[in-house]
Amino acid sequence: MGASPPVGDLRTGGSAAPGVEADVELLDVTKRFGSVVAVDRLTLRIARGAFYSLLGPSGCGKTTTLRMIAGFEDPTSGEVRIGGRSVDGVPPYRRNVNTVFQHYALFPHMDVGRNVGYGLRQRGITGAEERRRVTEALELVRLRGYEHRRAWELSGGQQQRVALARALINRPTVLLLDEPLGALDLKLRREMQLELKSLQTQVGITFVYVTHDQEEAITMSDRIVVMHDGRVLQEGSPAELYNEPRSRYVAGFLGQSNFIAGRVVEGGPSLAIATPGGLRVLARRPVGLEAPAAGAEVTVAIRPERIRLLGAAGEGAAAEANALVGRVTHATYLGDQVEHRVQVDGVGEIVARAMAPETMDAGESATPRFAPGDQVIATWQRAAALVLTE
Ligand code: ATP
Repeated sequence: MGASPPVGDLRTGGSAAPGVEADVELLDVTKRFGSVVAVDRLTLRIARGAFYSLLGPSGCGKTTTLRMIAGFEDPTSGEVRIGGRSVDGVPPYRRNVNTVFQHYALFPHMDVGRNVGYGLRQRGITGAEERRRVTEALELVRLRGYEHRRAWELSGGQQQRVALARALINRPTVLLLDEPLGALDLKLRREMQLELKSLQTQVGITFVYVTHDQEEAITMSDRIVVMHDGRVLQEGSPAELYNEPRSRYVAGFLGQSNFIAGRVVEGGPSLAIATPGGLRVLARRPVGLEAPAAGAEVTVAIRPERIRLLGAAGEGAAAEANALVGRVTHATYLGDQVEHRVQVDGVGEIVARAMAPETMDAGESATPRFAPGDQVIATWQRAAALVLTE
């Protein structure tokens, strides 16, 4: 894919910087199907040129949201705007939006070139201009020279690339993608994630991407909205959502987390939490949230990679804050990492993950490896522990 001039033709122009200008807006949108509330008072602002993902478990309302942007469904209440204008009553084909689905649905009786050029011919663009733009679009998805191949001669990944070229050929301002990599195997999916991201950067079109796969969303997105039961739980950049989750759900949905229940015994900036078993834990509030007051019931969330394990508990270690004495129940070799599970009385199981000792270069401090039955201290920095009230 080089930055040849024809490729530049597909740019929408204007700034692609997220946060500059809203390209797609949903304002207090609700969608009901009979008694089911699929989308519940959803407000989203998607910046022009952003790679924006709707992430959540099956049934949380992602596809319904996408279909309302596309115009396949009408909101029960609220408003959808594209390019600053309400699209109430505007049919899908007049929205300057295109959709790529999980199942590529290429026309089987047409070759690749005719599949890709379909949208152009619908608009009366044929002949040399059609061929030129089909070549451009195929170049963009790295399938130059495939014009005369049949859809069934292509691999799943290639078919999905053809579907992308077909969706991009009319230069939509917004491309909607509904789990487009869901039918591909893991290795191909990873490759396509990188390709999709660089394709999006190259064309500068706003991508709204639906997925239930957190890794996929983190890899590709400028911004992610985490949805649950038709509502927004949290919206932010991948790093914000990973490092500053505001709820237990988000902390557990993006990556893995250890959760320790307790009660705040010292409020304010120096948050201290007591567990029911009388252990003391130091933590911080997520950025942008108020610290809970003393007495509040909270959950402390700590990522497994932020937990360090130390050998053989020293005298009085259990009395220290952020030092939980426990016994290793499982030690699992994961190739590049080692995962230990530690049973801590009164707290439960703590998962700790660290780079495997074999991956360390000479001179680096290697992570000790423990065996089931070993007594260890699980410890972490205060900044690594977040206090969550939801
Ligand atoms: P998935 O990842 O499984 O596609 P999703 O997050 O995209 O899930 P939606 O397909 O938007 O979720 O569905 C949200 C809710 O609305 C679900 O409870 C679903 O059963 C319901 N729903 C969606 N479409 C319809 C419909 N046409 N008629 C009735 N209920 C519907």
